[in-house]
Amino acid sequence: MKQSDIEPFFAALKAANPQPNTELEYTSVFELLAAVLLSAQATDVGVNKATRKLFPVANTPQAILDLGIERLEDYIKTIGLYRSKAKHLMETCRILVERHGGKVPSTREELQELPGVGRKTANVVLNVAFGQPTMAVDTHIFRVSNRTGLAPGKDPLAVEMQLMKRVPDEYAVDSHHWLILLGRYVCQARKPRCWECVVARYCDFSPKNTAH
Ligand code: SF4
Repeated sequence: MKQSDIEPFFAALKAANPQPNTELEYTSVFELLAAVLLSAQATDVGVNKATRKLFPVANTPQAILDLGIERLEDYIKTIGLYRSKAKHLMETCRILVERHGGKVPSTREELQELPGVGRKTANVVLNVAFGQPTMAVDTHIFRVSNRTGLAPGKDPLAVEMQLMKRVPDEYAVDSHHWLILLGRYVCQARKPRCWECVVARYCDFSPKNTAH
């Protein structure tokens, strides 16, 4: 994708959805962290279903610790990899209580020290909760960035670095939401819906898919 097409590419996404947000449901930074931690290799819809029951009962690190691992597992057992996620979430809660006064830290280093929190999860929390222009490259962003020519790269970190360089500042904070939503609903893996895509004129993918 030509550099000069990147600004109108994001302007088109912004015009279609001026205030994008994560589809995970949360009402506090801790709920966001817990939801993102639970969402690895799971759908946001599936995570929301579980956290709608969990969070009214326990939505602070101390409350999750008080719940205990067995009851936590019970709440999240519909989510893939729930046993290891429950273990990570309990350990994360313990560290938050012991080292951070029960609060979620706001630096990448401290976030990535938490069990179950990798670079992608840290990027989501830094972006959504703390408004930092990070790029959490998931499967959708990876595909869209390569397919469109916006930020080609052979692995998620390479794509992240390209995006950090190529996305104009004014779109940096919201860009990862637009790219996820584009990948989830329009630029889908098997059958991109190019015929209804608002960024088709800027996208390098060729030939475009016109089959409805
Ligand atoms: S035009 Fe097609 S390939 Fe390009 S971003 Fe849109 S849906 Fe994806």
